[in-house]
Amino acid sequence: MGSTTQDLHVLFFPFLAPGHIIPTVDLAKLFASRGVKATILTTPGNAPSIQPSIDQANDSCSLRQPIALSLLPFPAAEAGLPAGCENMNDIVVTNLDMRFKFMRAIELLRQPFAQVLRELFPDAVVTDYFLPWTQDVAAELAVPRIVFHGTSLFFHCVSHSIDRFKVLESVPACNAQSFVLPGLPHRIEMQRSQFRDSGKVPGLTVFLERIKNSEERSYGVVANSYYELEPDYAEHYRKVVGRRVWNVGPVSLYNRNEIEKSQRGDDTSIDCNHCLRWLDTKKPVSVVYVCFGSICKLPIAQIREIALGLEASEKAFILVVRGVRGNDSDWLPEGFEEEVVGRGKGLIIRGWAPQILILNHEAVGGFVTHCGWNSCLEGVSSGVPMITWPMFAEQFFNERLIVDVLKVGVGVGVVEYADMCAERRVVTWEEIRRAVGRVMDGGKEAEEMRRRARELAEMARRAVEEGGSSYVDVGELIEELMERRKAAGAEQMGSEEQARGNCP
Ligand code: UDP
Repeated sequence: MGSTTQDLHVLFFPFLAPGHIIPTVDLAKLFASRGVKATILTTPGNAPSIQPSIDQANDSCSLRQPIALSLLPFPAAEAGLPAGCENMNDIVVTNLDMRFKFMRAIELLRQPFAQVLRELFPDAVVTDYFLPWTQDVAAELAVPRIVFHGTSLFFHCVSHSIDRFKVLESVPACNAQSFVLPGLPHRIEMQRSQFRDSGKVPGLTVFLERIKNSEERSYGVVANSYYELEPDYAEHYRKVVGRRVWNVGPVSLYNRNEIEKSQRGDDTSIDCNHCLRWLDTKKPVSVVYVCFGSICKLPIAQIREIALGLEASEKAFILVVRGVRGNDSDWLPEGFEEEVVGRGKGLIIRGWAPQILILNHEAVGGFVTHCGWNSCLEGVSSGVPMITWPMFAEQFFNERLIVDVLKVGVGVGVVEYADMCAERRVVTWEEIRRAVGRVMDGGKEAEEMRRRARELAEMARRAVEEGGSSYVDVGELIEELMERRKAAGAEQMGSEEQARGNCP
């Protein structure tokens, strides 16, 4: 009997941060829905944010195979971290030293990871691009490693252009003038201040080099993107950067029902029904949703400006505040909660919001985002134009894709890269009001953006449906892994027969 996809086993290993774990769980669901045995590897401290999502998926009829969870003990003590500190989200508000220790702890997972590979012996591993050492382990054990890119292909093409043309070497560090990134399908202008100064973080340049090198040696790349979103960059990535890539996203669309959508990541800090009922009372495209992802913690001064800007915009809003830096008691302008929130004009979620449920509600007409890739894609997949407010990591590049290439957003006006816990310029209420107005106040520019956003959302929906571009890419990857498995099986049978034949 020939083997089927049921025999294929793929192990998924995300980097330990919400923005990496969430799409990897979606990805595992996708593979399981196509009949592949999927196992997610994480640490005990991260299991509670994954297990409910897996349980829900396993109970639904959408999967053809149940997803399994496998745990590696996290070496917190060995790396000098407090017990229970197992996620990037647990350490960002503290200093750089804690981040080094966290990365050290992750590197210490190398031997346990090798042990898991020996025990489970999967047909392939899909590991995060932030885990370059998994390539070496997988290669030693002859398991193909596929890199999971939790970000846009646009970003990878831009990074390649910057390296290839040594762009930053010719631009003075303090120059505020914009320059064009060479060799890309579009004219992309940026400023030096929008780039991270890798030299300021010891070891970062070496780490980024390791990521690149591991990626070059990997079996290929699975991207959370869809061909129609960035076709020029999908081609550029294949032809110029020279990697094999399967575009399988947007992976958030594999959460089909409301329970799945509300169980992504942490427990929500608001009753989802209450949130949806509140949105039901608002007119279509009248509400602004403000959320800065899973790990950004803003200073009080900034949150107050946001509150004032939203009030001045006269738009209904949902404001998500994950964490506050500063004295917690006066984080909102005086009287704001009674005056604005109390009158039903706004909803404040302190903690974790059911983001994709909110974005998919017809009342939501604009999304103020920090431009994390998951949020960008979730905005695009919901057909909601964005007000872009990048802060760090690759967010300034994502902003260029949203604003200049896709033309589905406007920038709030931030051009200064500031690391996760660094001090940053406070964006004023007036800047916020103006950017919100450009998206929400109607007019030709806003209508065009909304039309394009809806078109992209429709394309995203079609991409993941049977016969769509992402559906086909996943099928091709699974097919290829099946062929590999069959070939390996035949080879093994051949050598067993030969060994038997050689027996006296
Ligand atoms: N998210 C959410 N609720 C929140 C904050 C974040 O569901 O209150 C989810 C969001 O939908 C996205 C992920 O967390 O899937 C954040 O990833 P992103 O790449 O946007 O940003 P990061 O957190 O990595 O900076």
